[in-house]
Formats: sequence, structure tokens, C-alpha cells
Amino acid sequence: MSFPAVTIEGYPRIGAHRELKKALEAYWSGAINKEDFVAAAHSLRVANYARLVDLGLTEDYAIPADVAYYDQVLETALTVGLIPGDVDLDEEFALCRGTAERSPLEMTKWFDTNYHYLVPEVADAEFTPRPQRVVAIADEARAAGVAIRPYLVGPVTLLALSKAADDAELTDPLDRLDDAVDAYAAVLAQLAQAGVEWVQLTEPALVADLGPGDAALADHARRAYTRLLAAPVGKARPNVLVSTPYGSLRAGLDALADVAPEAVHVDLAPATLAADPDYARRVGATLSPATRLVAGLIDGRNVWAANLDERARVLDELATTRDAVSVSTSVSLQHVPHTVADEPELPVDVACWLAFADEKITEAVGLSRRDADAFARSARAVRTRSESRRTHDAAVAERVAALPAGEVARTPDFAGRQDAQQALGLPPLPSTTIGSFPQTPEIRAARAAHRAGTLSDEDYTAALRAEITSVVALQEEIGLDVLVHGEPERNDMVQYFAELLDGFVTTVNGWVQSYGSRCTRPPIVIGDVSRPKPMTVEWSAFAQSLTSRPVKGMLTGPVTILAWSFNRDDVPLSVSADQIALALADEVRDLEDAGISIIQIDEPALRELLPLRADARPAYLDWSIRAFRLVSLDARPETQIHTHLCYSEFGQIIDAVAALDADVTSIEAARSRMELLVDLNEGFHSEIGPGIWDIHSPRVPSVDELTGLIEAALRHVPAERLWINPDCGLKTRRYAETIESLKNMIAARSKVLSAS
Ligand code: GLN
Ligand code: ZN
Repeated sequence: MSFPAVTIEGYPRIGAHRELKKALEAYWSGAINKEDFVAAAHSLRVANYARLVDLGLTEDYAIPADVAYYDQVLETALTVGLIPGDVDLDEEFALCRGTAERSPLEMTKWFDTNYHYLVPEVADAEFTPRPQRVVAIADEARAAGVAIRPYLVGPVTLLALSKAADDAELTDPLDRLDDAVDAYAAVLAQLAQAGVEWVQLTEPALVADLGPGDAALADHARRAYTRLLAAPVGKARPNVLVSTPYGSLRAGLDALADVAPEAVHVDLAPATLAADPDYARRVGATLSPATRLVAGLIDGRNVWAANLDERARVLDELATTRDAVSVSTSVSLQHVPHTVADEPELPVDVACWLAFADEKITEAVGLSRRDADAFARSARAVRTRSESRRTHDAAVAERVAALPAGEVARTPDFAGRQDAQQALGLPPLPSTTIGSFPQTPEIRAARAAHRAGTLSDEDYTAALRAEITSVVALQEEIGLDVLVHGEPERNDMVQYFAELLDGFVTTVNGWVQSYGSRCTRPPIVIGDVSRPKPMTVEWSAFAQSLTSRPVKGMLTGPVTILAWSFNRDDVPLSVSADQIALALADEVRDLEDAGISIIQIDEPALRELLPLRADARPAYLDWSIRAFRLVSLDARPETQIHTHLCYSEFGQIIDAVAALDADVTSIEAARSRMELLVDLNEGFHSEIGPGIWDIHSPRVPSVDELTGLIEAALRHVPAERLWINPDCGLKTRRYAETIESLKNMIAARSKVLSAS
């Protein structure tokens, strides 16, 4: 059975109208029972298969499929028995979400995407494969008339992404690779006996600089696949497609050439080829002509219509090395929304430049069949986009060109600014919060009504002002020193700015799975970015008018705005970063003019955007630090610039955080009990607020506990540089625990001060 001519690496599981999310949440809340949940998930899968066939994935095994309700890594770990026990649906969800008795599995980013997977914990126990799950979806699809290709995370990647269970003797999960391969072999044998002829094992670990290093991972792959592929195709196993999304293979390419699976998928997206220009040639020359090459030519990570002429040239080059090349997407389409057809509010010219999951499938089919209409559509999209006034704004280009190149630095330096900022008159161990206050159901309802047009602009503004007034009064009553307006006007810290900046569009249905049932709707940077008018000044100035204490202005930084958006593919990310930074710099000036003396620039995604490949990191850090600094480059010395970062493993990028050159840095620390502060070195001069209240749970920390954390922090940070604050924004909390926790925080601060 030869491999289909056109396929995809994967498809969003969440449903065009978030059907899976709704079913999951209904089941978790008890609104529907297990049978209803399973039936809903089944209907969604079968409807998706029908849709994919309609889009042109008509050949047998062209459609990849997994059974995951929550996450593909967890699902594979359960299928091959990496996680011990006969885990039923409720136990599976307990692993995902935790229960009163046990905490959930850790969750972390899936390669350099905004999807998060659950980290399996590998014990010493034997792996007991449970192929029933995956056999069942193949059967279910066959009953619906479709021969799907089961999708599993491959053994090397699965173990590389896992961690050893706390109580295991084992230290490196990859030490159990042979056992894992035997478990995969058992699953594959069951699939073969169920009549499945192709299976997909995805091995993105082979493109990334994960812990063991590229050469070691390639050796693991050589060993794993030599063993797995030793069984003959037929009753013992199906044909195997090994896929390698998220970048180019290095040593892994030779390893895969040696073990020669029946098919190999490679990522040939424009960005991958830009980073590794010789990759297509190397792939064609290295993989045996007997191996079916599945060329991931359609970019699955961005939302732009492909340039099919240019893609066809890459395909033609590969076709000279073998009889047939299949066309696919570079990565799973799970990272893009379902369809542009569900976006009635996009300007029509912009809509035709875009391709979401369904449109990308049409492109792959069109490329594979050399369909003239598809090529004509593509050429039109490429041409109109490059000529559009929406993409190129001469005024923005001029402003960016006038900037100094390379490193920029605010003057005077930190010490000089500290003198100027004495004028703020802050007390010792100043207290503040990270920005947002609880988003009440009333505020959400008002925003929805305003959006729907049933609440007038005046009434909406009045509702927000009332909320700000009460948030300011509350902070004064609690005794905080640096107040915030509470961010009630923000639906989301990135989308809010994207809606107000030129050069962005936002979607109404462009949902992408972030993890489990959580979806986000990333805005799209379509062109040069500028700020038509102030974005936050009205709210901050109103809050400042209510109090004599300083109110902190609140901006999302350029790196985070880009990290949580779809980006342009016609300019480097650094160009958009400079443009957004300039727009935010205008906002800083307007905030200063409105009497705001403290401004926070949030960069929770600084580490998230760090490239997979070590060799790409220095350039990233250069442009991201530059963009952050540009925002406050011309700020007055007496304006205190804060930044906030949301992660506790500080070590890896501590130098970059120091290089941001903020006056005050707040960071998550409560859960690690201030351990991160040992990473601080002499280069780290900024004042620092290691969050002492972990806001990620509804628990109210006691005064004693908070006192202990402040004392622990004081062992690493001198009192003149220490701030007292929670470890993140409060928008997901309720007022009850917020008020109590903040009061305890202030009481703990008083206790420490009176003891000293
Ligand atoms: N200022 C934002 C807030 O308080 C920061 C959010 C974040 O750290 N992710 O909500
Ligand atoms: Zn945070």
C-alpha cells in the first residue's frame, strides 16, 4: 500500500465551534454524563473526517487521527503504557486537571508553539501497552467509511519529553527506550491485525535542541527504529511514517536514512528553509529513493496563504531524487484556526491573504495536483498582499529606519535613575500588585453587551469607571503603596492592544487550542504597526485622579504581543518588534504627560519565545531586549519602569532579564519558595519583587507564611531593593480571597518592618 500523494501532519481536535471544549467542560461540570461525552467526541471526529475528505484528502491513510481528548502526549503515554494502570476516562482527566488528593501532571510548551502538553512521569514499572484506544478509532473511522492513519508521538520524543517519577530509581526516561519500543511494537502489531496499513510516529525531538543533544537523540532514534522496524510489514506491523515537524533535521536525518522507515516527513516550511537553506537538497540526497518522502511544504504554523509557485519549485527539486514525493503540511494544523470562512468581519482583501487549517489543506491538494485555479488564487494573494497599503506604511518604515541600530540604552543608568526616582517618596519594602484585579461576572457581561451593541459606549465607560473607582478605594483601604487601575477594560493582555493598533487584525472564531479545553484567539500582525491614538491613558489617568498615591500604568511588552500573535512572514520578527516598541513608546510618553510616574511593561512571554535551537538564541535575545528597551528609551529618569515575568525557572535567562534594564522586576517565586533568588548575580541590579503570594490557587496564605517568605527573600536581596507583591495578575481570582490575601501581605510586611 503506497503512501497517499497528499496528506497533513495533523488537524485541530477542538472543533470549528469548539465542540470538544464544550463537551469537556460540560462533562467536568456534571452537565452531561460519560456516554454523552464519548458520543460528542465521536461525532466530532467523524464530522472532521467527512470534512477532510470533502477538502480533498480522499485517499486511504491520507487522514491522520488521534484519540486524544486532552493532549496527544498523554494519550500516547497511556496507549503504550508509559503511565501505569488501567486508566479510565475520569482517571485520565485527574491526570490532566488534578483532584483534591493529587496534583495534575506538569504542563509545558510543546516545542516552540503555544500548545502545552502534559509531562508524563515514567516509573520503574513494566510498560503495559493498551492498544484498545487506538484500535478503536481506526475501527470507528472504518465504520464511517474512512481509513485513517493513527497518530502517535514516537518513542524517542515521548521519552525525551517525559520526566522520571519522583519515586522511581530511574533518572533519565530515555534509559527505558528499549522497553518503550517493545510496547510500541505491541501496539503496532495490534493495529496491523486490525487491518491498519499505515501508522504515523511523530519525532520532533529530532529537530530540537532538547536536553541530550542532537547527536545523542539521533543515536536513540537509530536504536529505537532499528528495533521497531525489524518486524516485517504485514501482520506484525503497518507501514511506518516517521514525521519530523518544527524544524530541520541534522544528525537525525542520517539516522532516519539508515533505519529507512517506509515514509519520512520533513518540515520544509519557508521559515525552516530560511534558517537552513540547504535542507531540501540534503533531504533529497540523504534519504533513500525507496523511502517515500512526505514533503511538509505547506506552512502549518502561520496563517498566510502559501506562495504555491515558490513551493512548487522546492517540490520539483525533490522530485528529481525519486519517483514520487507526497505533499503535506510542515507541522500539525492544530496550531491554526479552522477556517477563514468563519471570519465574516475580516476585510475582504485581508481574508484572501489568509489560509487557516481548511484552506491549507486546499493548498496542499492544489499543489499536489498542480491545480491551475489554486495556483492562480495563490499568485493573486501574494501579489495583492505585497502591494497593499495595509502591509507597508511609509511613515512607520521611516521612523524605524531613524532608530539607532543594535543595542540601545536608557539614560541615565540605573543608579542615576534611582536618584531621580527618590522623588516618588516610596516607603521601605514598597507594596504593589501585578496589574489586574478580579474580572467579575458583571464586568464580563458589560464587555459582552458592549461588543454585541446592546450597551452604549457611555454606559460601558461608566461601568469601567465604577469598577476602577472601587478597585482604587480597595487598594487604599488595604494600604498598598503603588496602586493599579485593575485592567477591567482588557479582555486579554495582547488582544486588547492588537484591537487598538494599526497593522493587526483580530478574529471572531480563530480559536486555537492552548491546552486541554483552553483555547486562545491570537491576533494577526498583517503589516507595519503603529498607534493611531492612546490606548491606556484614559483609564490610568482616571485612576490617578482618584488618589494621591502613585498609580502604575500597565502595558504589554512587544515580545509578549508578538509571542501571542500570528506574525508576518514577509519581514523578520525583529522588524515588527521595533514597530510595536515605538507604538508603546508613544504610549509611555502620553502616560507621563498624563501624570503617571510608574509604568509596568509586562513581558511574561520573554522566555517562551526563546528559540528551540541554541544557535538561534543570541540573535533572539538581542532583538527582544532591544525592543523592550525601546519602549522606555526616552522615558524621563524620574519615571520608574517596572517589568513582570511569569515563570519561576529563572536561571536560563537571568542575564536577559537583567539586560531589560527595568527599574523594578516582579517575578513568580512563591511556589519555589524564593529559591530562584539564589540565581541573582552582581549583574542583576534592578529592584525586585519576587511574588510572595501564589495567585494560581484560591488558597489564602497566612500572615506567618508570607512573613517567612519575605524573610527568605531578604536573605538574598537587600531591603532597599525588595518589593512586596503577589506573583501574577489577579484576574482569575475572586474578590473574597484577593482581599484577604492582600491584607495578609500588608500585615506580613508590617511585621517584618517592625522586627527590623
Ligand atoms: N498585568 C497583567 C495582569 O496583571 C500581567 C499578566 C501576566 O503576567 N500574564 O493581568
Ligand atoms: Zn504573571
